[in-house]
Amino acid sequence: MDHVNGAYRLLVGGEWITDDQTMPVMDKYSGEVMGTVPVASRETVDKAMDAACAAFPGYSALPAHARSRILEKAARLMERHAEEIATLICREVGKPWKYPMGEVSRGIETMRFAAEEAKRIHGETIPLDASPTGEGRIGFYLRKPVGVVAAITPFNFPLNLVVHKVGPALAAGNTLVLKPASMTPLTALRLGEILQEAELPPGVFNVVAGSGGTVGDWLVTHPRTAKVSFTGSPPVGEAILRKAGLKKVTLELGNNSGTIIEPDANLDDAIPRCVVSAFANSGQVCISLQRLYVHKDIAAEFSRRLVEATEWLKVGNPLEKDCDVGPMIDEGEAVRAESWVQEAVAQGAKVLVGNRREGRIFYPTVLTHVNPSMKVMCNEAFAPVVSIYEYDSFEDAVRMVDESLYGLQAGIYTRDIAKAFYAAEHIDAGGIMINDTSLFRVDHMPYGGNKMSGLGREGVRFAIEEMTNIRMVVIKP
Ligand code: NAP
Repeated sequence: MDHVNGAYRLLVGGEWITDDQTMPVMDKYSGEVMGTVPVASRETVDKAMDAACAAFPGYSALPAHARSRILEKAARLMERHAEEIATLICREVGKPWKYPMGEVSRGIETMRFAAEEAKRIHGETIPLDASPTGEGRIGFYLRKPVGVVAAITPFNFPLNLVVHKVGPALAAGNTLVLKPASMTPLTALRLGEILQEAELPPGVFNVVAGSGGTVGDWLVTHPRTAKVSFTGSPPVGEAILRKAGLKKVTLELGNNSGTIIEPDANLDDAIPRCVVSAFANSGQVCISLQRLYVHKDIAAEFSRRLVEATEWLKVGNPLEKDCDVGPMIDEGEAVRAESWVQEAVAQGAKVLVGNRREGRIFYPTVLTHVNPSMKVMCNEAFAPVVSIYEYDSFEDAVRMVDESLYGLQAGIYTRDIAKAFYAAEHIDAGGIMINDTSLFRVDHMPYGGNKMSGLGREGVRFAIEEMTNIRMVVIKP
């Protein structure tokens, strides 16, 4: 790993560099400082942009098989170092061990999908003679890389959500400057090292760290940025969209995901899945299960079994192999989660389990007697808090899931195909999971949100579409 005694460096133009100021990166459970990372100055960000611009003509001219080979080699190196990368994620996020190993496997798969997709980026022919004006001409389009992609990523999946931008961008022949979340920059720097080892040419992938308000802002507004690919919170996404100007922008934002449990649901399947969906990574997942709409006929049984399963969760040190729930990203977030629960209780909600905080740890919490205007229901909780709302009419449940400012993913458990289709038709979201919760994702499916959940789609092939421009060619023979 490119650091000396915990002093990490930034990757700019193929060199590992320092800067005047540094910031510490903490182990989120122990509070120990894992290392320091340079805070990129304006000059460093400009250098990274210059390097990415300079590398673009050469890299974009590489044949598809060569780009694919680099990505495949990176996937193999990630495989070789899987446990080490997982440990880094476990510590810098505070994510219980079983989840970082899963994230690394997914990151490898995403990288491999990118290696495969690099070989099949293509346009199509257009029948120009469909218009009298086009008669006698031949038309087709090519897909061309956009140029420099500014990638800005959140703290919660510091590997896979970075690979979701880096893999497609490199597959398509773009170059990048990445700004990872300030809380979790180490995994991204490790990925930079792996891509170097995979023989990615210098300057193609650059990593700069520093606060979103400065470094992130400079990247978004930089005149040589061709595309901004952002994953993070809705307010920051909206601010980026306003500032970016005439650039391509993809925004992967938040959600207050809902899932419906119909009376015919298979509860043996649904309950363990709901527990994981609500509490994995302390609920800090964009598609975490937050709102559960449970039919009144099964609500008592469902709630009792959900609470029992929640009580079994092991809360504590993420490095312990059997830990289920670790700390939140910082104490401020745990305090916020606690205050939202207390506010809901003051407004009439009942706590079935949880609502206990120890420093950065907020215990898995299940609420009932909630109403749609409580923060825990209408805003993104991004915390280990799930609320149960009992419903009578199925159509009402679908309407309530849909009546959200967000629209990323939703779920429904039912064996009735007509109801499943009704939900798929009537919920305005990027994905509807039938007989699963909102949490389901594999990395090659189109993924992204409507409304305040974002703009555009990721999922390797779909991200490539957003990271390329169509160039139409018309031939008059
Ligand atoms: P965040 O606070 O919005 O930060 C995300 C990234 O944006 C960080 O790198 C941050 O830098 C940077 N940033 C902050 N202000 C900026 C600005 N003015 N200009 C440019 N960049 C700026 O989000 P987070 O707390 O890390 O992540 C949680 C959010 O991400 C949740 O809302 C979650 O739902 C969403 N998310 C969405 C998806 C998805 O695929 N839809 C996936 C994961 C997470 P600093 O770290 O320096 O502040």
